[in-house]
Amino acid sequence: MQKFKFFINNQWVDSVDGKTYQVVDPSKNEPIAEVALANEKDVDRAVKAAREAFDKGIWSELDGDERAEYMLKVAELMKKRKKELARWETLQTGKPIKESEDIDIPYSIRAMEYFANQAREIKGEVIPIPGKYAFDYVTYEPYGVVGSIVPWNFPLHLATRTLCPAIATGNTVVLKPSSYTPITVILLGEMILEAGFPPGVVNIISGPGDTAGNAILRHPDIDMISFTGSLEVGQKVLEASARPRIKKVVLELGGKGPFIAEPDCDIDGAVNSLITGFCLNQGEVCCASTRLFLHEKIYDEFMEKLVTRVKSLKLGNTMDPSTQMGALINKKQLEKVDSYVKEAIKDGAKLVCGGEKYNVPPFDKGNYYKPTILENVTNNMRCAQEEIFGPVLVVLKYKDLEEAIKLANDTRYGLGATIWSENPRTLYWAAKKLDAGTVWMNTNVMSKIEAPYGGNKDSGLGREDGTIGIKEYLKVKNNILFVGKDYDNFYGFK
Ligand code: NAD
Repeated sequence: MQKFKFFINNQWVDSVDGKTYQVVDPSKNEPIAEVALANEKDVDRAVKAAREAFDKGIWSELDGDERAEYMLKVAELMKKRKKELARWETLQTGKPIKESEDIDIPYSIRAMEYFANQAREIKGEVIPIPGKYAFDYVTYEPYGVVGSIVPWNFPLHLATRTLCPAIATGNTVVLKPSSYTPITVILLGEMILEAGFPPGVVNIISGPGDTAGNAILRHPDIDMISFTGSLEVGQKVLEASARPRIKKVVLELGGKGPFIAEPDCDIDGAVNSLITGFCLNQGEVCCASTRLFLHEKIYDEFMEKLVTRVKSLKLGNTMDPSTQMGALINKKQLEKVDSYVKEAIKDGAKLVCGGEKYNVPPFDKGNYYKPTILENVTNNMRCAQEEIFGPVLVVLKYKDLEEAIKLANDTRYGLGATIWSENPRTLYWAAKKLDAGTVWMNTNVMSKIEAPYGGNKDSGLGREDGTIGIKEYLKVKNNILFVGKDYDNFYGFK
């Protein structure tokens, strides 16, 4: 079995106490790798390396062009190793290989390239002070050491989404992937080393959230936390990052995405995009469309098409390019998904399809769950309010768009929302009313690295991606310089 160590200060190291753990393939529940297991001491070691690199200015004081060159070298190395990265991504997450090859790895490479080029674009502003021999200029500076904590659903993509803007802007980083899926992020360390990065700029450790993750949150030498994960842990992150001193925090949390299908919509297109919305990555997507608001006029036709298509989805061998759905991340997640479905049925929801583990041998050994649709759901049921993070869609019938939007917004989350209609006025109005970080109109769950991504309400704080996202990693300094001969006090004291 392949072994993986931590990447600290450009060296491959074991954990301080020598402990390791096994990473498991969710499609078989068999171990695939042995990985060093971090505790507080390992976090401390990684933070020291990042702190020293930052304080020496060996990265932050490089020209943006130079940082870009290092990052572009990494992007080239990622391209060369994309097959290997995709294979590991699928092995450790249980997602179909086609998704790893077409989505996860290309997105990660694109993040490296995009933010590399953004490193060249960091500029300031000048504010005129008329009539004085003085000028006011605003500079954007790195925070220092960024602690990045990411989840397991898109391991390399979400790691690069935070690592790349952090280093492009001159910060140094301690990166902790989910302990379920550390391998592709650790492999990135090999490419950082090969690209010739100075030591300590990027440090990668792996370990559980309540020890290693918690140690990152509480470390006094970390200046900023970028966290992607669940709402429950996000709340802990916000609390913990207030002490012993205040850290800058960006939170990318969960969602409960509404999908509104208006009576005039292109039904085939909407059905297609909804299936992507709740079945992509087995439904383990933060912005998944998990609540369908379906107009009563098209209810029967839409449901018939939807259910026929969902029943034909191919679950199975994650390494087979024709597989459309793989396995959930672990048994605990499988049980959680199943318990939400069972409870919904007990509370009066009608099971339309799915609702059980996929038990066709040899896949019965993995954490496969059939794509599931529940109707007769009311908005106050737990299945309509809480993030299930599996392939489960709840359906609510509506008569009036205003009412549908009210219900769509009636959740603590506000990450993504979708509406399908052929009427641009309807789309414009709905987009204005929907309380979400992203609104998709006649499309679904697509995202571009150039555009800001993030959530309203309990779905997060701040934005990742795009020029708005990159600013999260920069602190703002206002500088006022007097260049006149005689000091002329602005407030009149002479
Ligand atoms: P999680 O919150 O359990 O874990 C996320 C990360 O936090 C992991 O690295 C974990 O080890 C760490 N962690 C756990 N407990 C911690 C603690 N007490 N202190 C510090 N770190 C801790 O989430 P998950 O189950 O890995 O991922 C699924 C969740 O992530 C879903 O809620 C999903 O919606 C969300 N997500 C959000 C986005 C987004 O962009 N908004 C993207 C992907 C996933």
